[in-house]
Amino acid sequence: MKVLDKTISQLTIPTPFAVGDVHVYLLKGDTLSIIDAGVKTKEGWEALKTQLNELGYTPNDVEQVILTHHHPDHIGLIEAFPRAETMAAHRNADLYLTRDETFFAEYEQFFRQFFVACGVSGELMPGPGELGGTLKFAGTGKLTDTLDEGDRLPGHDDWQVIETKGHAQSHLSFFRESDGALIAGDHLLHHISPNPLLEAPIGSDVRPKPMLQYRNNLKKCQSLDIQMVYPGHGRIFSDVNDVISVSLQKQERRAEKVYTFLQEKAQTPFELCQQLFPKQYENQLNLTMSETIGQLDYLENEGLVTTTLKNGVYVYDVTK
Ligand SMILES: [Zn+2]
Repeated sequence: MKVLDKTISQLTIPTPFAVGDVHVYLLKGDTLSIIDAGVKTKEGWEALKTQLNELGYTPNDVEQVILTHHHPDHIGLIEAFPRAETMAAHRNADLYLTRDETFFAEYEQFFRQFFVACGVSGELMPGPGELGGTLKFAGTGKLTDTLDEGDRLPGHDDWQVIETKGHAQSHLSFFRESDGALIAGDHLLHHISPNPLLEAPIGSDVRPKPMLQYRNNLKKCQSLDIQMVYPGHGRIFSDVNDVISVSLQKQERRAEKVYTFLQEKAQTPFELCQQLFPKQYENQLNLTMSETIGQLDYLENEGLVTTTLKNGVYVYDVTK
C-alpha cells in the first residue's frame, strides 16, 4: 500500500495470472471511490481488506466502484463493497459484468467464424465456453453510470475520463490536469507493452482493430501533459513519453518482421501466427492470434499489405 497524495492511495492485490500483482486506487473526494477491484480470490480479498484497514477504512466505507476495463484482474472484487451504490465504467464493460448471455453467445460465434476465416486449423478451434475461462476470477454486477471521453469522474470533478481502447474495448484512463496524474489501467505500463486483444464487435458487424486503437491512444496520451502514471501493474513512472516511444517502436519492429515473412510468400494469419509464435500458438491461440492480426491491421493501414479472400480464408500479401 502506498499513500500517493492526500486524495489517492495505491493498494496492491496478488493475482493468479502471469502478469503478477494488480494495483487498485482509493480516491478521496466528495465521495470515497475505488478504481478497479483486483481478482476474486481469498488472497485478493484479504489483501484488499488489510490495506484498506491500514488506510483507516473498511470495504463498507467505499461508496463508488469505478473501473478502467472489464478484465478479470480488474473487476474481481466489485461485489465486496456493500454500500457502494455507484458502479461506473465504459458501457462496453456492462456486458461482461452482467454476463450477458446473448453477447457471450455472439462472442463465441464471432471467434469461431473469424478464426476459420484466418485459417486456424479445426483441432485448435475454441470449444463452447473456452473463451470465458478466467471469468471465475471476475465479479458480477451492473453499471449504474457509464463513462466516456471527456466526462468527469462522479464525486471527483478534478479527474477527467480519457478513452483508451486497445487492450480492451472498454478501456478508460483517468487524468487530473492540475498535476498531470494519469490512472492508466493497463494502457500504459512501464515494464511490458499491453496486448491489444481481439474482441468481438459490440453493436456492429465490423470488428474493432485493437492495435490501431492502441497506437492512436498512445499518441493521444503523448499530447496530454502527463507527469505521473499510476498503472494497473508494475511501477509508478514519470518518463511517460519515453515509455510511449519505446512501445510504438517495439510494435513497428514486430510489424517489420511480419512484413519480411510476407515478402517471402503470401500467407494466412494463422500461418503467420505459427511462424511468429511456434512454441506458444497452440496453448495461447487467442493471445498469439491477437498479436498477429494486430500487426496485419497495422501493415494494412500503412498500405504495406493487402488481403484477399480465397475459399473463405484471408490471405495477406505485400502490396505490389
Ligand atoms: Zn490487468
